[in-house]
Amino acid sequence: MKTICVIGVGYVGLVTGTCFADLGNKVTALDINEERIANLRRGILPIYESGLEEMVKRNVAAGRLTFTTDYCEALRDAEFAFIAVGTPEGVDGEADLQYVRAAAEAIAECITKPIIIVNKSTVPVGTGDWVADIVRAKQSQPVPFSVVSCPEFLREGSALQDFMNPARTVLGSLDKEAANKVAELHLPLRAPIVVTDLRTAEMIKYASNAFLATKISFINEIANICEALGADVKEVAAGMGYDPRIGKQFLDAGLGYGGSCFPKDVKALAYMANVQGRHPQLLQTVMEINNYQRRLAVIKVRQLVGNLNGKIVGLLGLAFKANTDDMRDAPALSIARALQLEGAQVRGYDPVSMNHARRLMPALQLCEDAYAVATGAHALVICTEWNEFKQLDFERIKGLMKTPNLVDGRNLYDPAWMQRLGFNYCGVGRG
Ligand code: NAD
Repeated sequence: MKTICVIGVGYVGLVTGTCFADLGNKVTALDINEERIANLRRGILPIYESGLEEMVKRNVAAGRLTFTTDYCEALRDAEFAFIAVGTPEGVDGEADLQYVRAAAEAIAECITKPIIIVNKSTVPVGTGDWVADIVRAKQSQPVPFSVVSCPEFLREGSALQDFMNPARTVLGSLDKEAANKVAELHLPLRAPIVVTDLRTAEMIKYASNAFLATKISFINEIANICEALGADVKEVAAGMGYDPRIGKQFLDAGLGYGGSCFPKDVKALAYMANVQGRHPQLLQTVMEINNYQRRLAVIKVRQLVGNLNGKIVGLLGLAFKANTDDMRDAPALSIARALQLEGAQVRGYDPVSMNHARRLMPALQLCEDAYAVATGAHALVICTEWNEFKQLDFERIKGLMKTPNLVDGRNLYDPAWMQRLGFNYCGVGRG
């Protein structure tokens, strides 16, 4: 059993802290958001993630997981301090490190015995050294510490499964002893452990996300060519995916990537390259294609409906992907705004992210289910690949709609079946 403090109780911090507690460690999870901590103490989670609520309750009941807003209390006995605060997009795409700085300063002020600071947040190359400088400069009395980079690769929607079964654990540090101690913590996860230096570990995270984003933009570009040439991108992707050099994953053409990671991480990597005088042409193109996919969905609605002024368009799914309530940089947000700019009345429904939608898009009319969205609509756009949309009663939906126009931004349906049902159907790359 190790004593761990996790700083930042969001998607990564809450999952990290809860999983380490479940593995038998004593975890104090700390956040500056008092309401979040008060809710967690009452068993109310700030995020939706399958299986997480039950795991949190189990570990709280066992006394292995506690929540606090008090840094000095959280760090008193901690052998490890995991930083898992947000690193959102700042000016010009640069990662905003204000929360990492605040966490590093607070650690420096509170530690009274040696500690290993483990950075889980996605941070620009060089941040580990910067954190060490901040802690050193802020300490009132010198207490030994080490900084280890341990980037997180979990995906929202399957976060517990991903955390407990990682493809690899990456550790970056020049302090071999510290890296070994962090490696020991991860041994129960039975994944290959890559030990490297701080900067390389930080780069592995950005390079991995940029590669996956590139794969998504690649298949979207192929989809758009398929559309023009009469080929079907779903079958193209399936045919490509059998090749182990290519792989099946991240080859779903659609509305492009969204969420709190890929968009900001690709931008931050491009920013780092630009600052160093490099020309990140591929990354720029990946971002351009991604933005275009969202615009293209609106173009398709316009092609089906005509002038959008006064028309009713329904969005099915608002979260950036299925099985999460996260709406940060969700395609549905940009599509709704673009449709509203053209005068359309936009409504939507999502199985779990309605509260976020209410806050982020007050002008969006929220409906209680897919059928309510369809009632009187001139077009529907599938924005999220939720399972519950896969077998909707489309006869009923067609009867409810003003005009049966369907833009399937996630390629959930068979175009021939939709046409047989009488829909004007437009998928992505289904030539
Ligand atoms: P989040 O926004 O869900 O949570 C961040 C939390 O940090 C919030 O609860 C916030 O109140 C808290 N916080 C901010 N400043 C603080 C401080 N000074 N002290 C204590 N708490 C503070 O963020 P997230 O999605 O969990 O992402 C965290 C990091 O992990 C980011 O760098 C992100 O890029 C990276 N990451 C995220 C994912 C993901 O799927 N969300 C996956 C891998 C890596």
